[in-house]
Amino acid sequence: MRKLASIQTVNAVEAIPNADAIERIRVLGWWVVVKKGEFRSGDPLVYCEIDSLLPERPEFEFLRASSFKPAQTDDTGAVTQPAGFRIKTVRLRGQVSQGICFPLSILPPGASTEEGADVTDSLGIRKWEPPIPVGMGGKVKGGFPGFVSKTDETRVQVLEPVLERHRGKTFYVTEKLDGTSFTAFLRDGQFGICSRNLWMDETDESNLLVRVARRHKLEEGLRRILAVRGFQPAIQGEVIGPGIQKNKYDLKEVSLRVFNVFDIGRSGLVEHPVLLDVTRELGLEPVPQLGTLVLNHTVDELVAFSEGMSVLNPKAQREGIVLRPLVEEYDPDVGGRLSFKVINPKFLLKYDE
Ligand code: ATP
Ligand code: MN
Repeated sequence: MRKLASIQTVNAVEAIPNADAIERIRVLGWWVVVKKGEFRSGDPLVYCEIDSLLPERPEFEFLRASSFKPAQTDDTGAVTQPAGFRIKTVRLRGQVSQGICFPLSILPPGASTEEGADVTDSLGIRKWEPPIPVGMGGKVKGGFPGFVSKTDETRVQVLEPVLERHRGKTFYVTEKLDGTSFTAFLRDGQFGICSRNLWMDETDESNLLVRVARRHKLEEGLRRILAVRGFQPAIQGEVIGPGIQKNKYDLKEVSLRVFNVFDIGRSGLVEHPVLLDVTRELGLEPVPQLGTLVLNHTVDELVAFSEGMSVLNPKAQREGIVLRPLVEEYDPDVGGRLSFKVINPKFLLKYDE
């Protein structure tokens, strides 16, 4: 689970060229711009990651002019996300700043001040979610099924120990696509389709994901995979194109790019070469494959490496990259399979995220 607000320690304080009033501090693997002299190396503080939505409280009012977001409501007028102040990536005097820092005094009485403690709830902070895009609706069957893992990737900035632990290992790199998550599975003879968090009704063609599955004849495809390969498959990918996330790649039609093939019986992902084979056998394409890398990088080096244009459209900044080892393995800091994302800061700045 992502900790949006936590107790952390200042790892370093550095000057920003040509800036008198501000400097940059290092917290976890992030750089944050702060007022000069506000924090010293070794100080404990409250760190709030980008995507934090801070509540409307007096101590956060100074953010109103720059960061206020009104409440979001659904069709019935019910509030789905309260108003608050949204923390996003910014650039100040040429320095990218990600997150916001506060002294411990901001904490309510009784909150934990131990290093790493999660203080998201104590501070009333929530995750900022963009408004739900139109056309993503459709009949829902239920929550995301427990027999397939949800798609998710942890940010490299909170994984410094992981970079140390796996130094020297070969990782394969894919482009992270900015679309919407898609899962299709075949279990006990039943075919199903899921969005990021929901199990959709596979007969409701008003749902974009259902139309994608039909166009690619995925039910037949998954039945073929079961027959030929002998495992109950789930495939997961990103749906991109017109009507999705502002179609940043300027595509003419909707397309599905695969990044996971899951073996439901074993409850685990198949190895990378098998993923590529199954994807091809289904008549699909994987997410763009950018080659391999022997891990020997700092967070900053990986962030620099994540910058670049999309394979899908050389005029569009790519959202970032995803790194996975050639052989699947578990990592305790990731809290699951070893795999993480590195988001391109230029993408975040360009799209105001
Ligand atoms: P956060 O976890 O940082 O709060 P988030 O949960 O909204 O953010 P994303 O930033 O969208 O998640 O990152 C994870 C998602 O990226 C996955 O759920 C998957 O749908 C998508 N994705 C796109 N491209 C890839 C790829 N190449 N490999 C793996 N996942 C990918
Ligand atoms: Mn996530």
